[in-house]
Amino acid sequence: MANAHVPVTGGCLCGAVRFEAKAAPTEGFYCHCRSCQKFFGNLSAPFVRFTRSSLAFTKGAPSYYRSSAVATRGFCSACGSPMIFVYDNPESDFWISVSALDHPADWPLTSSATWGPVVHGHVDSKIAWQEIDDGLPQRTGQTAIYRQEAERALGKKPG
Ligand SMILES: [Zn+2]
Ligand SMILES: [Zn+2]
Repeated sequence: MANAHVPVTGGCLCGAVRFEAKAAPTEGFYCHCRSCQKFFGNLSAPFVRFTRSSLAFTKGAPSYYRSSAVATRGFCSACGSPMIFVYDNPESDFWISVSALDHPADWPLTSSATWGPVVHGHVDSKIAWQEIDDGLPQRTGQTAIYRQEAERALGKKPG
């Protein structure tokens, strides 16, 4: 986006943990899996994807909770803000909570976004009364390609 803030900066609610990405995110993702619903305490989790080499924590560091055999979730141990989802395989990119960005409006998770593709994922575990009518593509858990990639890379069985 022409007027987007790059480097892309962000952090948690209390300011103990800060991060910076040298490059713009490459895509957006609303995750409707139960794990994200619980971790974010919300209907779904909006993420933007950054290459692993572009993003670094510049102040403090997240604490990590292992939420599956192939991934961990980073949050601030002081204020509890969710910030990052990371698959274990080192080639895998970082998924950052849109809400943790200093300028979340720079990266709209909409069907008219020009900065990158955006989809809804795991819509088969979407909370039933939430209506998705934003025109974005909707994927089920069975087509969760990133998790499958990570499982392949790590030689783990789905689960
Ligand atoms: Zn904090
Ligand atoms: Zn999820």
